[in-house]
Amino acid sequence: MRRNTDNHGRHRLDALPFDNSFARLPERFYTRLDPWGLPDPHLIAVSETAAQLIGLHADELEKPEFVQAFAGNAPLPGGETLAAVYSGHQFGVWAGQLGDGRAHLLGEIQTPDGPWELQLKGGGQTPYSRMGDGRAVLRSSIREFLCSEAMAALGIPTTRALALVGSDAPVRRETIETAAIVTRMSPSFVRFGSFEHWAANNDIEALQTLTDYVIERFYPACREDTNPARTMLAEVSRRTAELMADWQAVGFMHGVMNTDNMSILGLTIDYGPYGFMDHFKSGHICNHSDSAGRYRFSHQPHVAIWNLQALCHALMPVMESPTALKTAVEEPFVEAYNRAFIGKMAAKLGFEQAQASDADLVVDLYKVMQDSKVDYPGFFRALAKLPKTHAGAEADAPVRDMFIDRDAADGWLAQWRERLAADTRSDTERQAAMNAVNPKYVLRNWVAESAIRAAQKGDYSELHTIHDCLSRPFDEQPENERYAAPPPDWAEDLEVSCSS
Ligand code: AMP
Ligand code: MG
Repeated sequence: MRRNTDNHGRHRLDALPFDNSFARLPERFYTRLDPWGLPDPHLIAVSETAAQLIGLHADELEKPEFVQAFAGNAPLPGGETLAAVYSGHQFGVWAGQLGDGRAHLLGEIQTPDGPWELQLKGGGQTPYSRMGDGRAVLRSSIREFLCSEAMAALGIPTTRALALVGSDAPVRRETIETAAIVTRMSPSFVRFGSFEHWAANNDIEALQTLTDYVIERFYPACREDTNPARTMLAEVSRRTAELMADWQAVGFMHGVMNTDNMSILGLTIDYGPYGFMDHFKSGHICNHSDSAGRYRFSHQPHVAIWNLQALCHALMPVMESPTALKTAVEEPFVEAYNRAFIGKMAAKLGFEQAQASDADLVVDLYKVMQDSKVDYPGFFRALAKLPKTHAGAEADAPVRDMFIDRDAADGWLAQWRERLAADTRSDTERQAAMNAVNPKYVLRNWVAESAIRAAQKGDYSELHTIHDCLSRPFDEQPENERYAAPPPDWAEDLEVSCSS
């Protein structure tokens, strides 16, 4: 188990150092209320690494008080529970007011490395629930818990998950399921849609307050600028671009990139019908509810720009001078995205330094992978095994055997070797470097589904094994080899939708 030494294990649950900055914003930003909680809850899973981030003592995770607190049944001393209001564009259409319809912010913990807000998801209705029941089902809560922690272990910016608590309380979806609560952690849960909310309501004072709040806490360098909101927007564009590069490089699809699901801090947030690419398909749609494919894999960076443009429109009233979308959003985004994406792909392919022309090699790779339905994460681990100097079909078998079209594989490998010729590292050094950036284990849909199916029968051991496996995604783990495999037959046609 990894230990975070500087901030580890100092606090008891009833003595967490809360200082709730969001609760000090004007009253119209939220509604103060207690969660309903969960009857007779039980602890399903806990993230020790997340607990370490808030300095929570490991012994506390074992106590009944921990379960009660994160089932929403017992308030934490110093917390101020509230649900926040926001709005947003959903599937490209203005949706008006949304808000924390089933999320309760418990408060904000101060640590030497910055603040962490704690939030329950699934703890009951709020004034923003609209038609929803305020609940989250076990299935979707497992998906959020596992993926939050898996993304963190991959080094991809994300909200975290501290705990997963379940109960027998029935929840109606397509069928009757059971209720669960995930405790999420993030330095802030402010979304693009939080800004859109005040702009749409023409409440410029609130818009300014929110902008000042976010700049003060998270983008302090912008304070000195002549046009702070504009500089913040450019910085948010950069962070979002880097996040998109992470998603594209690892083969992650969010599934519901609505503006209310876009973090102002450039974090992956709101895990719903997400997916990790098994066999490569650029147009892959992971969300069964997204029939038009707005949020398909290849489109994610474009959607991010669209969402940033919506944020730009919202921020206009608090910008010192009117700002062109091109300079505030597009230029910083494209520059950061290209640099980050090519850098990551070059590292994945085993090159010491990225070159602009590597983009062409990636495009060619996508084409041959797609034609041969090659497993995306598996490909890069196989590629690491190949020698720099061509040594015949047998030596190339780990990659060639993944392709239906062997000639296409040979053609691409020849290009790859030509490019590799300039590199000075030995095969062993390059292999180690490639395995350190190409995860062996990602949360494939079928892997999440096997954790869910076992959990729905009351067996959480599969979930725990997968959680542990994904906390070391770059390591060879012979005992967990099965989770690195493409979907088995039973999981070929798995579908995930917005129902959660
Ligand atoms: P999502 O698609 O999960 O990002 O949610 C979009 C909006 O619907 C947010 O305002 C959520 O709080 C709200 N929402 C989703 N599911 C529920 C639910 N079961 N009960 C109440 N509100 C919900
Ligand atoms: Mg959401």
